[in-house]
Amino acid sequence: SSKVSSFVVERAKEAFLGGRTRPLEFRLQQLKALQRMITDRQTEISTALKQDLNRVSGALISLENEIALAIEKLAEWAAPRPVEKNLLTLTDEVYIQPEPLGVVLIIGAWNYPWALTLSPLVGAIAAGNAAVVKPSELSEYSALLLRALLPRYLDKDLYPVITGGVSETQELLKQRFDHVFYTGSSAVGKLVMQAAAQHLTPVTLELGGKSPCYIDKNCDLRVACRRVTWGKFVNCGQTCIAPDYILCEPCIQGRVVEGIRQTLLEIFGPLLPIVTVSDMDDAIRFINEREKPLALYIFCSDKKAVKRMIDETTSGGVTVNDVMMHCALSSLPFGGVGQSGMGRYHGRHTFDQLSHQRACLLRSLGMESVNLARYLSKLKMTF
Ligand code: NAD
Repeated sequence: SSKVSSFVVERAKEAFLGGRTRPLEFRLQQLKALQRMITDRQTEISTALKQDLNRVSGALISLENEIALAIEKLAEWAAPRPVEKNLLTLTDEVYIQPEPLGVVLIIGAWNYPWALTLSPLVGAIAAGNAAVVKPSELSEYSALLLRALLPRYLDKDLYPVITGGVSETQELLKQRFDHVFYTGSSAVGKLVMQAAAQHLTPVTLELGGKSPCYIDKNCDLRVACRRVTWGKFVNCGQTCIAPDYILCEPCIQGRVVEGIRQTLLEIFGPLLPIVTVSDMDDAIRFINEREKPLALYIFCSDKKAVKRMIDETTSGGVTVNDVMMHCALSSLPFGGVGQSGMGRYHGRHTFDQLSHQRACLLRSLGMESVNLARYLSKLKMTF
């Protein structure tokens, strides 16, 4: 498998260096092909999801939205971004030019096998990169289907799929990439970062952790419990930003348990521990004593208290009076902080994450007189 990975990565690199990802028309054509793949193959994809996770489809809507957004906005995202000038650069042309990084490795997790591999791919294509996609071996049917389908729709050299488990992924990680985009556990995230460090390759790590959910006594408990329970048990609890535990005061604990029980009637799902705290300050202390979570949920009707809780804690993202919704809006960056990960994606953020923001300053050879000062030894320019 070491020969396979080096061959595949070399081929992707060569194709990238050949320059065909540079024109935006090419990227648009690839994104449209990806869109077509999902529409054409809806039934096969749904069957694979059913076989892997016993899931009824619907999980591809966010992915389809990501592709549609990238197609619509690509020209805007890829355009040079003018920046402010200072006195010394008044007559220059200065801008930030997003440019492709090269070959990106995308390593996906099993719980959303299509979204977690293809959403980063959308950004990789849009940003003009080549990408090697490595889906999780645990969602095997989806992985094999992806390997069969992708080359039929997309450029085979630029966007190859490699399937396999730990050893295949480790072989891949020995290769030199220009970016590694990993979704999965924090433990494996460390291995990925270690491997990438050998080549000074930057990483995006979309990891897990425990996402707290604070329910204030000052809120509509019935609605709060219904929303929390939905978020906890959707996809059998296998969502990285599902609420992991509830923090509440003892005086509402009984009503919280009852509210969840009522929402859950005949459904069996994962556990949702409830930790009691004496008040909001205690909840804040509890959260801050632990690793920085991927998501934080706050149910509370007092806006000031909500703002304070946001100010005095940290997490990858936060939704107030509902769960997981910050992840559904592609204008918000999705990602972790600290142990819950690094880097961000969704919508334009994926494009930016997988681009190099190149600083460009274009000056003319004229107006040499304004430079005289810098040639005098006592007036050396300082940076
Ligand atoms: P997983 O088993 O699917 O593994 C993820 C990827 O890592 C797979 O492609 C796998 O082949 C590879 N891998 C596993 N062990 C490896 C090793 N030793 N060396 C190299 N590669 C290896 O997923 P998982 O680990 O069960 O992930 C579940 C975790 O992912 C949970 O903690 C969850 O919270 C997190 N997650 C995070 C997000 C997010 O967006 N932040 C999304 C989904 C899941």
